[in-house]
Amino acid sequence: MSRSGDRPLAENVTEQRRQDEAAAAAVRAATQQESPAPAAQREPRDVIFDVDDISVYYGEHKAIRNVTLDLRVNEITALIGPSGCGKSTFIRCLNRMNDLIPSARVDGKIVYHGEDLYASNIDPVQVRKRIGMVFQKPNPFPKSIYDNIAFGPRVMGMKGDMDEIVERALRRGALWEEVKDRLKTNAFGMSGGQQQRLCIARALATEPDVLLMDEPCSALDPISTGRIEDLMAELKQDYSIVIVTHNMQQAARVSDMTAFFTVELHDEGKSRTGMVVEYDETDKIFTNPDDKRTEDYVTGKFG
Ligand code: ADP
Repeated sequence: MSRSGDRPLAENVTEQRRQDEAAAAAVRAATQQESPAPAAQREPRDVIFDVDDISVYYGEHKAIRNVTLDLRVNEITALIGPSGCGKSTFIRCLNRMNDLIPSARVDGKIVYHGEDLYASNIDPVQVRKRIGMVFQKPNPFPKSIYDNIAFGPRVMGMKGDMDEIVERALRRGALWEEVKDRLKTNAFGMSGGQQQRLCIARALATEPDVLLMDEPCSALDPISTGRIEDLMAELKQDYSIVIVTHNMQQAARVSDMTAFFTVELHDEGKSRTGMVVEYDETDKIFTNPDDKRTEDYVTGKFG
């Protein structure tokens, strides 16, 4: 499969950067270890997003502060924490969706495949093509199933047989068998769970390598939720996934890594800022967290 991670986000990637990357790749090849390195010593190639000191403001309001995390390739990272702690704000930073909110300002640095996502030469449309997003409420276009999937590839001018592109995306979204005989019918005729898998397939149609999911199951029944969770487990072979969820069992079931966010109150509770308390392997967060605040949250004492 042609993976979008191999392609530059901006046309004018400098020759110097190419040389640096080639040198880094040679060093990595020469020093490759037999067993996986501990998290703290992982090779740069295992990190898809290197998030460094991200703070986000809406006007004067600092919504999240000083978020620093390495998100790993081909893993599922869950973002958990009480409502309003900035999980959605943070996930939107990863594909520059906050650019679409006029009052939002992002400080700090996010490096994706070695490129600074917020550098002035980076095209946010290219970013969103490679870093797809699925939202809480399924939001198919008022078009046929086929045209929902074909929309992105057509806009992007993707080459290839469109029927094949549509079939491939629907297969990846675990929807092909259910819809192959009614591709030309309106997507609104599908169940909620099918609509959400359609939105996942639509996001995958432009060949991204990251899927961001902001509470993708909160509008779905348990059976549809289970199908999406099974699908996520399959997709992580080929994609890196970040999911916001308020369902802690879901985070524990599906994710490899979990970041627990909380809210700090200032000005006698009038102002609230989100921050990451703890980020670690999911098992550790749920069974033996380092921070008392994490323990209180995952055991249901708070939040
Ligand atoms: P969560 O996803 O954890 O519930 P959000 O990221 O939605 O948290 O919200 C974090 C804070 O940012 C909240 O105080 C919220 O009111 C504020 N916020 C979120 N989106 C916007 C926006 N578009 N404009 C202004 N403030 C926002």
